Amino acid sequence: MEQEKTLVILKPDAVQRGFISKILGRFEEKGIKIVALKMLFVEKDRAHKHYADHKEKPFFSGLVDFITSGPVCVIALEGEDVIEVTRNMVGATDPKKAQPGTIRHDFGMHIGRNLIHASDSPESAKKELDIFFKKEEIVEWEHNQYTWVYE
Ligand code: UDP
Ligand code: MG
Repeated sequence: MEQEKTLVILKPDAVQRGFISKILGRFEEKGIKIVALKMLFVEKDRAHKHYADHKEKPFFSGLVDFITSGPVCVIALEGEDVIEVTRNMVGATDPKKAQPGTIRHDFGMHIGRNLIHASDSPESAKKELDIFFKKEEIVEWEHNQYTWVYE
């Protein structure tokens, strides 16, 4: 069973609106293992690093202002194909276009307030996990439900 890890950020709107437990609960219910989590303010430098690919985009400065505007919750998830599975659970970037049942659809109304970030590839997952977590902060543990989650 090939396990991989991904980074999720509950953005300041998710925290302010009181959705940490609801969103985290979806990952737990899905059978995904949480291997790290913490709350922090994202400093400007870190925001720039995390969103480096979007530096030239017109929404970049607004995005940096938003992600640094309040505390966020950063989470490392582990599971089989968890990068893709998590992106599917998160939904399209614009909550108005996201499918019902996705986090962005169910909780959001605007592309600039879309509640959650999730890594989009193995390369970005590795890069983003390194930005937010030290190696020793990732907790390797045995999920005792795994035989009931995976064949
Ligand atoms: N974003 C925005 N306006 C846009 C496009 C993106 O504010 O027109 C923000 C939004 O918060 C999004 C983030 O920039 O989540 C990163 O954009 P990306 O295209 O990588 O979307 P994601 O991978 O988060 O779905
Ligand atoms: Mg992205």
